[in-house]
Amino acid sequence: MTATADPAAIVTRFAPSPTGLLHLGHAYSALFARKIAAGGRFLLRIEDIDVGRCRPEFDTAIREDLAWLGLQWEEPVRRQSEHMADYRTALDRLDGDDLLYPCFCTRKEILAEIERAGGAPHGPERPLYPGTCRALSADERRARIAAGEAHALRLDAAQAGQRTGPLEWDEMERGPQPCDPLRHGDIVLARKDVATSYHLAVTVDDALQGVTVVTRGEDLFEATHVHRLLQALLGLPAPRYRHHRLLTDETGRRFAKRDRALTLCALREAGRSAEEVRRMAGFDTGA
Ligand code: GLU
Repeated sequence: MTATADPAAIVTRFAPSPTGLLHLGHAYSALFARKIAAGGRFLLRIEDIDVGRCRPEFDTAIREDLAWLGLQWEEPVRRQSEHMADYRTALDRLDGDDLLYPCFCTRKEILAEIERAGGAPHGPERPLYPGTCRALSADERRARIAAGEAHALRLDAAQAGQRTGPLEWDEMERGPQPCDPLRHGDIVLARKDVATSYHLAVTVDDALQGVTVVTRGEDLFEATHVHRLLQALLGLPAPRYRHHRLLTDETGRRFAKRDRALTLCALREAGRSAEEVRRMAGFDTGA
């Protein structure tokens, strides 16, 4: 199923993580999502599964900053930490289809294994997981879980790709993009410390919230290989995608949470109006 072209039916979302204050790059991303929604619906989602890094005060600040910027979103706002049962349901389905396996490896063990093997195929960001725990017997898995050993859950990407067959996603402006199920290897879908992962939560949420166009920075373009694969495995609709450019400073450096001076809060306190900030983010008209 793909999203309809009826503009009134477009649903977009802005999905920040409350790990810091929003900066100019976030303003661009949020205004971009609002603009693509046009006459349709614009949603806000708080991606707060990373309990160690997320803070409630940033959640509040995000809403204040977006409202100040002139954005309105639909209530209720979805907070990922309140929906762990939805992610569990998705994991159970994948597990029932024999597509998951427990991984007990530590980061250090993974690196050592890669070194021992004389390298590993590289994903877009790092070497791929060498598959160590995929080879464990069912008995060993059971015993180690029963002994309380911490484990993540990984997707058996090769199996997954075989089940779905060829896939693509619809990238607005650029057309169909081939999806490579092996692009990120056996990706973690439930972390040792959190019973889901960014990839799983985003895919499930976009479907449950009825998002028809996923807009986000092009730094997440590569992640779409995993998201499209998960949609196919979980029988979820495939939204369209629009990965946008990332705002940079005069030296070409990407804005980041560390750039205190360009947080929306600092700009506001420095006396900038919402209209000025919208213009700085490249949006001339009102939100
Ligand atoms: N929460 C992610 C971030 O803040 C965005 C996720 C997405 O748009 O898919 O970078």
